[in-house]
Amino acid sequence: MFVELESVFNNDGSSLAIDYSYSLDDESIATPVHVVGEIFNKTGIVTLKAKATFDYATQCALCCKPLVRHATVPVHHILLTEIQDEDFDDLYVQVENMRLLVDDLVSEDIWLAIPPRFVCKEDCKGLCAQCGADLNEGPCGCKKVIDPRLAALEQLLGE
Ligand SMILES: [Zn+2]
Ligand SMILES: [Zn+2]
Repeated sequence: MFVELESVFNNDGSSLAIDYSYSLDDESIATPVHVVGEIFNKTGIVTLKAKATFDYATQCALCCKPLVRHATVPVHHILLTEIQDEDFDDLYVQVENMRLLVDDLVSEDIWLAIPPRFVCKEDCKGLCAQCGADLNEGPCGCKKVIDPRLAALEQLLGE
């Protein structure tokens, strides 16, 4: 969604509510992204503050079970008509011609916020390295491969 920000930039104290959904074209984003928040001008500083919510489809990094997680990503930026400093950070966003494409900004924040790996539960036992069985469903019967160095250490410690 494009928002026209001329009146916000020009009027201290003004604000614009945002509440819309867009579809992020990626197979891992299972629902439309719902964006709720506002763009406001406080003492001449224009800030975008919103939350993006959606379902994220992924798999457990340990047992490979498919997972769907409800995700909420905060979106917080200061909008400027001109970026002055060369080495600006992610907080500052330049708005060309007082128009902002909110979707792109939110999508960038989503990709930055999504953790690189998910686990289905904190104590997921994962898959057996030998037979591939899901160890959450019980032991698979494979013999443990004991590292000889570890075995020697265990003997030393008296088990
Ligand atoms: Zn798992
Ligand atoms: Zn096994």
